[in-house]
Amino acid sequence: MDTRPVLFLDVDGPLNPFAAGPEQDLSGYGSHRMEPPSWTARHPGRSLLVRLNPAHGAELLRLAGTYELVWGTTWQDEANSFIGTVLGLPPLPHVHFGPVPFLAAPRAAPLHWKTRTLLAYAGRRPFAWVDDEPTDADTVFVRERHPAPALLHGVDPARGLGGADFTALAEWAAALP
Ligand SMILES: [Mg+2]
Repeated sequence: MDTRPVLFLDVDGPLNPFAAGPEQDLSGYGSHRMEPPSWTARHPGRSLLVRLNPAHGAELLRLAGTYELVWGTTWQDEANSFIGTVLGLPPLPHVHFGPVPFLAAPRAAPLHWKTRTLLAYAGRRPFAWVDDEPTDADTVFVRERHPAPALLHGVDPARGLGGADFTALAEWAAALP
């Protein structure tokens, strides 16, 4: 059985700083127009602007020595071909969330729509969850329900992942019992 901690990776927010304003320093990022099939099926003729920093790929590969990297994103299986290839990542497993009704209906429940599914995927393994959306309600829910250590690591979608985030993730895993 794999006992490594899982690193659940969100795309929009941590890797793609979609909320960055013109004042934000995005050196290192490349801009990409993408048309993932799951998106164009709902928005014919429209593409997505995705900004990605290949340095994040190198940082994630370093963390892969400790964690199992797993996509935890609305991109689901499309994260490998559209995001991972740009970042220089090998194909990674992804969490299957099913259809994406949350795009049509705004969040009503205090609990994030990913939380229960991520807990089920993690089973009894420790995990870190890198995302821009979870709230204190998710932290409390995970603390009460998950039988192993868990880190909900929030990232500002205006800034994306930075050096301090990767350091925090490495240190958290190193401190696991
Ligand atoms: Mg996000």
